[in-house]
Amino acid sequence: MQNCLFCKIAGGEIPSNKAYEDEQVIVFHDISPVAPVHVLIVPKKHLASTNELSEAESGLIAHVFKVAVQVASELGLKENGYRIVNNCGKDGGQTVDHLHFHLLGGRYLDWPPG
Ligand code: 5GP
Ligand code: ZN
Repeated sequence: MQNCLFCKIAGGEIPSNKAYEDEQVIVFHDISPVAPVHVLIVPKKHLASTNELSEAESGLIAHVFKVAVQVASELGLKENGYRIVNNCGKDGGQTVDHLHFHLLGGRYLDWPPG
């Protein structure tokens, strides 16, 4: 997909520290972690943001959350808890325009966010 960073990571063109991969999603460690555990769950299909989601992706999104729980468990987060975050658009703080979900944990996470 044109010049998209996460498409390149999903395609293996740019290396990443992978935590999980299947035919629908790739999960890799964030290059600039904000918590002891900070991975990105990235659908391989290029969608710019949640704004582009439709009913056709309902199975994909269910899969994202299933993988999130599995990875959270594998990375030791299940007992104490974790947070799954999607940033959408300018006010949401989105910086990479390829749909992704942050999985954060390993410390207490404040609420509300800044
Ligand atoms: P957003 O701000 O769009 O919600 O999240 C983008 C995330 O991608 C940020 O947390 C940022 O640190 C991460 N990121 C940006 N470039 C790279 C990269 O090249 N490799 C990895 N592993 N993470 C990246
Ligand atoms: Zn992309």
